[in-house]
Amino acid sequence: MTKKLTFNELNLSKDILKAVADMGFEEASPIQSEAIPVILQGKDIIGQAMTGSGKTAAFGIPVIEAIDPKQRFPQALILCPIRELAIQVAGEINKLSKYKAPLAALPIYGGQPIERQMQALRKGPSIIIGTPGRVLDHINRGTLNLKNIKIAVLDEADEMLDMGFRDDIEAILRNTPTTRQTLLFSATMPAAIIHLARAYLKDPHTIRVAHEKLTVPAIEQIYFEIESFKKLDLFTRLIDLHDPALSIVFCNTKRRVDDLVSDLQARGYAAEAIHGDLTQQKRNKVMERFRRKEVDILVATDVAARGIDVSDVEAVFNFEIPQDEESYVHRIGRTGRAGKSGKAFSLVSGGEMYRFRDIKRYTKAVMTRLPVPSFQEVEEVKINKLLTTIRKVIGEKKLEQYTPVIESLLKDDVTSLDVAATLLKMYMQATTTSKKAARR
Ligand code: ADP
Ligand code: MG
Repeated sequence: MTKKLTFNELNLSKDILKAVADMGFEEASPIQSEAIPVILQGKDIIGQAMTGSGKTAAFGIPVIEAIDPKQRFPQALILCPIRELAIQVAGEINKLSKYKAPLAALPIYGGQPIERQMQALRKGPSIIIGTPGRVLDHINRGTLNLKNIKIAVLDEADEMLDMGFRDDIEAILRNTPTTRQTLLFSATMPAAIIHLARAYLKDPHTIRVAHEKLTVPAIEQIYFEIESFKKLDLFTRLIDLHDPALSIVFCNTKRRVDDLVSDLQARGYAAEAIHGDLTQQKRNKVMERFRRKEVDILVATDVAARGIDVSDVEAVFNFEIPQDEESYVHRIGRTGRAGKSGKAFSLVSGGEMYRFRDIKRYTKAVMTRLPVPSFQEVEEVKINKLLTTIRKVIGEKKLEQYTPVIESLLKDDVTSLDVAATLLKMYMQATTTSKKAARR
């Protein structure tokens, strides 16, 4: 049963309702509708829902309600697996808290100078959002005191365990009062998560947004059966055909990510890699350029892309089929964010077919198999787009500067039609070898 409430039905303070309205949220998502009332009652919870389902506000809103901004010390702690996520969560919480407690949330993470964080911590922010390693570092230095923590949140707990943060998380929680309320969010529920919950949560209430609801319906899921060595060609055709504003392309290994980026750059596409081997600085730079649309194809591994929330991603590509079904769901959740429409394309080779069938069964999603678009189809689409542009530019007039140039070419046996066709041919040739480069 999908329960969806309006925010007015959730007994929230006026300040939060105003902030939520500013953010343009119309109604609470299923996980928010179910989790917020239980958290407000002070209960521990285990929340399971897909990426993009609005978990941040599900815990962020009750956390903001719980803090007293006049008290200048940390009252809530949120642990996230990666820096990008800590920054994102802090950003979302600061938007939600802007009327009640402006700038209540402080993100702390590795990679940023520790002195700057120590300075910010001295001001006594109410809500700390951090990656486990850096949080523990501050505890050990005595620059972060958790003795007044009322609520602790483990966001993307499965991911944190996968990254080897288990000991750090336990050490951090031991530094918080046992009277605290604990909220654990995880996309999957492996045994390690259940153990963690048993050890640190008190009589938790489990909230699970069922699998049927996990697949975001706004996302059209398409797949192609294609031999491995033809994937690059198919991918570039799909990009040319659909011309998505921003795309994320997934590969299963860092190596494959790097190789694909080189191949794409060689063909003139504005593609960049994002994976765990890059320095934090490089990753930030890539993400910034992606947000600014200077890079329009982000090639990523699962972990690197996890939690990234860029709203204009129009297409997700599974260049390789992921190892498990849940990764598939996470990947396609990178598009269609916040109710926008998106498309997910999977390029399935013979050897991947078996795994892909499992994914189809698990997600119960409608996946449409399409034939590989032909070169002619791609050409046709490109020509049609060009014709539209030409009509528009003709409509704008202002061609005086160029008409004499063309006139100078005209002879008895060279008509203006010939000149126009020549220009079109040259354009098509240029854009076939270096498509995106020519567009820029
Ligand atoms: P999750 O943590 O479950 O992956 P997020 O909390 O990052 O999801 O939310 C995904 C996106 O949806 C964010 O851009 C967020 O601002 C937006 N969002 C969250 N709640 C709502 C809502 N009730 N209505 C509309 N958009 C929402
Ligand atoms: Mg999240």
